Amino acid sequence: MSGETETESERASGTVDGAGTSSGREAGTAVVAGAGIGGLATAIGLRRAGWTVTVLERRAAPERYGTAFGIHPTAQSALDLLGLGDALRARAVPYRHARIRRPDGTVLAALPLERIERRAGRPELLMARPHLIDALLAELDRFGGTRIAYGQPLTDPRALDADLVVGADGINSVVRTAYFGSRSGPRPIGTVAWIGIAGCETGPYGETWGEGRFFGMTPVEPGRTNWYATVPAATTAREVRDVFADWHDPIPRVLAETDPATWIRYEMRHLHPALPRFVADGRVALVGDAAHAMTPHLGQGACTALLDAEALTRAVAAGGPDGLPRALRAYDAERRRSAQRVAFGSRSLHRFMSTRRPALRDTLLRMLPG
Ligand SMILES: Cc1cc2nc3c(=O)[nH]c(=O)nc-3n(C[C@H](O)[C@H](O)[C@H](O)COP(=O)(O)OP(=O)(O)OC[C@H]3O[C@@H](n4cnc5c(N)ncnc54)[C@H](O)[C@@H]3O)c2cc1C
Repeated sequence: MSGETETESERASGTVDGAGTSSGREAGTAVVAGAGIGGLATAIGLRRAGWTVTVLERRAAPERYGTAFGIHPTAQSALDLLGLGDALRARAVPYRHARIRRPDGTVLAALPLERIERRAGRPELLMARPHLIDALLAELDRFGGTRIAYGQPLTDPRALDADLVVGADGINSVVRTAYFGSRSGPRPIGTVAWIGIAGCETGPYGETWGEGRFFGMTPVEPGRTNWYATVPAATTAREVRDVFADWHDPIPRVLAETDPATWIRYEMRHLHPALPRFVADGRVALVGDAAHAMTPHLGQGACTALLDAEALTRAVAAGGPDGLPRALRAYDAERRRSAQRVAFGSRSLHRFMSTRRPALRDTLLRMLPG
C-alpha cells in the first residue's frame, strides 16, 4: 500500500483529543478506499473513535474541483457530530427564496427551502465543493494519525489486511464489485449536466424547467453564482449557450460570465438495481456513491454520503472492534432504506421534470401548496 506518491497526513497516533473523544489505545485498523467526501468524513469519524486509518486514493492529489453542494440540515447535523460544524458555517451561505420558473421567467412554484428551514430550525446551506474537501482534510490533519495514500488505486479489496474495509470509492466502486459482484452497476439516464461558477452574483435563484432542459442557479459565495444545466447527452459545451440563449435573464448572462474552460460535464447515472445490503463479511461497509449513487435532482448525493459516514462511524465507535459485525448490521439498518428512498425520489423527480408533457407538469406544479 505504500507508494512513491504517498502523502502522510500523520501527526500523532494513539490518543485522540480536542473534540471530547479519546482513546487510550488504537481501537482497530481500517482501510478506507476513496478520499472523496464520503471517504474523508468516514476517516474523521473513525479517527475520533480511536481507529488507525489508511485512506487509499487513486488520484495523485486531493481532488479539489467541483462547484457547490446543497447541505441539508440533516447533513449539517452529521457535520456537527463529526466536528466540522464551525468549518461549514464559516464558508457556507444560506439558500432561500428560490423559485421554479418557466423559460420565459414565469414563476411556477417555490422550492420548499423555507419549509425545510421552519421544520429544521436552520436553513439549507450551500458550500463550494473544494471548501468542503479542504475542511475535511484540515480536520483529519488536526487529529493526525491518518495516512492518506494518494496515487494508490485499490485493485484487490479482498487482499486488504485490516479489521474494517470501507468502500467510499464512488459509483464504480471496486469494493462493491469485489463483495457484491457486478449485478448492481452505474446506469446512465441519457442526460448530462454541465456545471460551473459564474464570476458575477445574480438573482433570482432557483430552477428553470423547459422541455428536456433545465437550468439552476444558487448563491455560493459573494460575487459568484453557482449554476447547473441539464441537457440531452449529445449536447456539446459549445451548444450549451445556444440552447439557453432565449431563456429568461440572467441565464444567458450567467453562461456568458463563466469561462467554458472551467465548465464541468457530468454524465448523470445512478446505481441499479439497489443493493440488498451496504455491508458484507462482518468487516466491509459501503458509503456514499459506492452504496447508492443517485441522480443529482434532489441535490442529496454529498448529504447522504455524510450521513452514511456519521452513522457508520457512530455504530463502529459504539461496538468496538469486537462488536464490528453487529455495528455494521446497525449501520445497514439505519442507512440503507433511507438512502435508497432518497435515490428513488431523485430518479422519480428526474422523470417528472423530463416528461414529454411539460404543460401538464407545469399545471401540477402551480397547484402545489405554498
Ligand atoms: C451535477 C451534479 C450536481 C450535484 N449536486 C449535489 C448537491 O447539490 N448536493 C449534494 O449533496 N450532492 C450533489 N451531487 C452529488 C455528489 O457529487 C456525490 O454524490 C458525492 O460527492 C458522493 O461522494 P463519495 O465520496 O461517495 O464519492 P466520490 O465523490 O465519487 O469519491 C470517490 C473517491 O474514490 C476515489 N476512487 C475511485 N476508485 C478508487 C479506487 N479503486 N481506489 C482508490 N480510490 C478510488 C475517487 O478518485 C474519488 O476521490 C451532485 C452531482 C452531480 C453530478
